[in-house]
Amino acid sequence: MKNSGKPVRYGHLKSVRITVWIYFFIFIVSILVLMWFTFSVSLEANYKRMKVSNIFDVANYILTDWSEDEFTDGNLDQLAYDNDMCILIQDAYGNRVYSYDMMAGNCLIHGFFTTDLYKYRALAKESTRGIYYTEVRNPRFNNEVLLFVMVLGDPSDPSGYIFLNTSLEPLNSTIGIINRQIIIVSAMLLILGLGISYFLARLIETPIVRIIKSAKKFGEGDYSAKFDGHGYTETEILADTLNYAAEEISKVDSLRRDLIANISHDLRTPLTMVKAYAEMVRDLSGDDPVKRQEHIGIIIDESDRLAALVNDILDLSKLESGTGELNYSTFSITKKIHDIMGRYTLLSEQDGYKFFVTTKSDFEISADIIKIEQVLYNLINNAVNYTGENKTVYITQLITDDDTARIEVTDTGKGIEPELLPLIFDRYYRAEKSRREVIGTGLGLSIVKQILKQHNFKFGVRSELGVGSTFWFEVKGRVTGEYSDNERNDNE
Ligand code: ADP
Repeated sequence: MKNSGKPVRYGHLKSVRITVWIYFFIFIVSILVLMWFTFSVSLEANYKRMKVSNIFDVANYILTDWSEDEFTDGNLDQLAYDNDMCILIQDAYGNRVYSYDMMAGNCLIHGFFTTDLYKYRALAKESTRGIYYTEVRNPRFNNEVLLFVMVLGDPSDPSGYIFLNTSLEPLNSTIGIINRQIIIVSAMLLILGLGISYFLARLIETPIVRIIKSAKKFGEGDYSAKFDGHGYTETEILADTLNYAAEEISKVDSLRRDLIANISHDLRTPLTMVKAYAEMVRDLSGDDPVKRQEHIGIIIDESDRLAALVNDILDLSKLESGTGELNYSTFSITKKIHDIMGRYTLLSEQDGYKFFVTTKSDFEISADIIKIEQVLYNLINNAVNYTGENKTVYITQLITDDDTARIEVTDTGKGIEPELLPLIFDRYYRAEKSRREVIGTGLGLSIVKQILKQHNFKFGVRSELGVGSTFWFEVKGRVTGEYSDNERNDNE
């Protein structure tokens, strides 16, 4: 399938099965060709070479015996028999001194070929080493025969001649047998090869086909489809990877659904309120300045909430898509904390909130000042929103290392259940669903998370039920001096 989802026809010739078959076939044919070559070409050449050297050995043996005048007929008979040869030894005048003929019609030096012996004797005498050998066709059986003549003594004055004759026929019959064997072995190899390649192709193909089926289902939107790659390691890894990817995709999908539901819900609530109160002003309270004031106040509050929500969504999507580049500058986070706390004075005066800020040293960091400000605001706002009856919030700056400061925002609220702690940084996660309309958008902590991640700052939360929660993050920088926070803590 291509992206369009339109079915595409794939060539079967490129399928695993056909590919395996083709390669196996090529492999087997190569082996067979190699076998034929080895047996027919090189064997024939080697055999003939061996026969020639054999005939030389026999001739030399006879020569040694002859010069010592020691050989007996019995010895020569054995020699001829062992080497599959017939032997004829003549004296200087061509008289037969010894003869062994065990090959009947194959023995050209005996019988009907004798008339030519004179000719070969002359050829041997003419040669430099007194030796002449040739391959001759035996007219009787139409087969190849090796004929060998050696002059005894001085070639110009020979004392005799050795004729040796061996058939090359056994070679042909051997080749015939081997050829037949090769044909049988070839046929067996082909059948075996086809069988093995069939099973091999199935072995490779089956898990892949299973994965393709699941992928098709998955592509059609069935997120429950499971990938099964058992068979061999690579497909198992592939299936595991796909299962992981599928799980993540289905998570993203359900998150997307939740997100849309939450956003529309969050947008609808203030919109309904704005519409309802606008209608009330138009129909009922328009003439009553007190009521009108109150209702318009609600409309303004709800519009603010709507604007805040839209801003949060925009911020988050910017942060998540990575388009929100960081604007690094060097500033004192300690001063920033105190500045922000200054802005909460109204809250503490009007609503009785108590803020305790503890900073011992002035700590300078390099970060995006606006984003870090947003992190502090989000954490402090949450602490204000979720702190308990005693309305107390602690903001602490601790120097944990030479180059690290940890900022902690602690409230004295009812805390967060341990199993919910890993979830609260997720987009739209809200532990207290019931208070949805009252405070927050459910995006504050995911914005905090994105910003701190972008800065590579560590962050986290610890919480104890009934005692309160502490949200913290660590910034990298350096201490630039003391910071007396007592004078600034006018909110205490
Ligand atoms: P909200 O706008 O709902 O506060 P946040 O992303 O800031 O969204 O927080 C997500 C959820 O985490 C909140 O709905 C709340 O349940 C929980 N939470 C955040 N801060 C605190 C806190 N200081 N104490 C208790 N619960 C908190």
